[in-house]
Amino acid sequence: MFDRIIVLRSVTGIFREQSMRVVHEAKPKTCREIENLLETAEGKLRADLLSKLAVLTGESDQPRSRRIAAAAFELAEELGYRRGKADALFALGDAARIAGEYRLALENYATSLNIFQLLGDPIQQGRCFRRLGDVHFFINNLNLSLKYYLSALKIFENAAEKGGSHYIRINLGHLMATIGNVLKDSGDLEGALDYYNQCHSIYTQEGFSAGIPGVLYNKGNVFFIQNRMDEALNIYKQALAEAEVNKDYYLVSMALNSIGSVFMAGDNLDSARNFFNQSMIVAEQHDRKRGILAATVKLVELGRLQKNYKTALDLSKDAEQLAGELDDRRGHTDILKERALVYQGMRKYKKAMETILLFEKLRGEILSEKRTRELDILRIRYETEVKEHKIELLKKERTIQRRMILASVAGLALAGVSLILVYRNVRFRTRVNKELADAYSRVEKLSRSDSLTGLANRRAMMRSLSDEQTRSSRTGRRYGLIMADIDDFKRVNDRYGHACGDEVLVEVASRMKKALRSQDFASRWGGEEFLLLLPETSLIGAARVAEKIRESIAATPFLCEKISINMTMTFGVSEGGGVPVDHAIQQADAAMYRAKRKGKNRVDSI
Ligand code: GH3
Ligand code: MG
Ligand code: MG
Repeated sequence: MFDRIIVLRSVTGIFREQSMRVVHEAKPKTCREIENLLETAEGKLRADLLSKLAVLTGESDQPRSRRIAAAAFELAEELGYRRGKADALFALGDAARIAGEYRLALENYATSLNIFQLLGDPIQQGRCFRRLGDVHFFINNLNLSLKYYLSALKIFENAAEKGGSHYIRINLGHLMATIGNVLKDSGDLEGALDYYNQCHSIYTQEGFSAGIPGVLYNKGNVFFIQNRMDEALNIYKQALAEAEVNKDYYLVSMALNSIGSVFMAGDNLDSARNFFNQSMIVAEQHDRKRGILAATVKLVELGRLQKNYKTALDLSKDAEQLAGELDDRRGHTDILKERALVYQGMRKYKKAMETILLFEKLRGEILSEKRTRELDILRIRYETEVKEHKIELLKKERTIQRRMILASVAGLALAGVSLILVYRNVRFRTRVNKELADAYSRVEKLSRSDSLTGLANRRAMMRSLSDEQTRSSRTGRRYGLIMADIDDFKRVNDRYGHACGDEVLVEVASRMKKALRSQDFASRWGGEEFLLLLPETSLIGAARVAEKIRESIAATPFLCEKISINMTMTFGVSEGGGVPVDHAIQQADAAMYRAKRKGKNRVDSI
């Protein structure tokens, strides 16, 4: 409650003073060092130190951490010290997150982010984005989680490219790992592995040994899901060894648990039990509740496989309680699924069914189909952005930065000699690099456009549509969609030949472009079908444009080898923004077919 009041006050508060980060002469790292400095520190320095101490104590003593963060906030408020407030809010967010108060955590991080945005501090914004991503991941909002992570990734990648510090590169690694987690949970295993590998290489380069066990463990999980059991076992063992060296007991317990799972999958149940028990012991000794939960869930499964149903059922209840305490919905679904199987083994079919229904309900809440689709759109948008950014780099520096681009160039199957060279990751002399950059931008352009008409292709249109949809949901402005189809086009081909048909298509594209504004986007959607996107245009406005195009096609005959051919087109118009993209496309399509049925050469709206 207390924190909520604080948050509200900070949102409405007027930030007066231009504040600057207080420079610490000595950079304190441990709680003890900070506590010593706090004995004499005053003003902004004191506020900074309090926030730092709050973050450091968060994991070990959450209530204390919260008190300290609240004190930091009050002091910063008193001093009119904006950056101090933002830091304190971040610390309050951490305390709330650790306590499992996710809504409060989100509010605090978001307010902190607002202030850092006002102050124009990208790195701190990146930290806030990452935390927002963490909380959303935790509550299984995968799409939002990915969105925030990608925002953070952009910031850290930018900073790293400009020769960022060790700290920045490590953060970049963390983010790659968290994005990998989101992708894994959304079923994109190859994507997840890719991000984990990038993270792994950053950690290795930076000598960040504390991060290695976790990333190894994550990679193991992907192999496990892919049923690559030998590789999984191997990598879990490496993770275990690294975790032991680092005294990371949570990961020691998780790695032991997963090794047990590999044995269980191979029907070696005695070894599996041995590992699960070891995992439980480590987790209990070091009070790692998530570790205890994971081990319990596995022991339930093992109990079921060995037909010790009663034990399995009891354990599943313990696990459920623990999942409740931890607010771990994903853990909860695992337990329900397992318990349903236990009931099935006991031939208690009614109970099994009830449990399955509970499971389905919880899982449905967690990952609806819609969310998965939104996730895809986000990823495509991000990857496009990255690719475009890379091309810019390529042009500027004429140096090849990463294999990633190379793979996509090769993937487009338009490799010339120079592209093969790229594949070998060779640094080129300037001349070759220039050719390469040109080749790459040609390839890029081709991959986005239709080779006959030069209009955007379907893929590029999809991308623009998803951008426009996002913009529209932000601004509330609608956009117009026109689906256009050439009438009786087959007859042109049949009578005058395919080459003539092609010429007509090119001329149609050209007339369409002339009728459009520069911000409009025309695509070849299919053979003789075109989809046009008109930003910030109403249904009536779009219908007017369609009518103009219709007129320009019908009014002047097409010329093909000196033969004059009369052509017409039929149009369907809809309005996007208020409805999902696919829906708007379908509506335009339906309107177009209606117009065809009414006799072609006309415009119909939804
Ligand atoms: P409707 O008025 O109902 O739309 O009839 P239609 O003949 O235009 O439609 P239909 O779908 O029956 O035929 C479309 C034709 O377009 C068939 C296909 O061969 C032709 N086509 C598709 N792509 C191309 C192309 O790139 N070049 C040429 N020349 N023809 C194409
Ligand atoms: Mg047609
Ligand atoms: Mg057609």
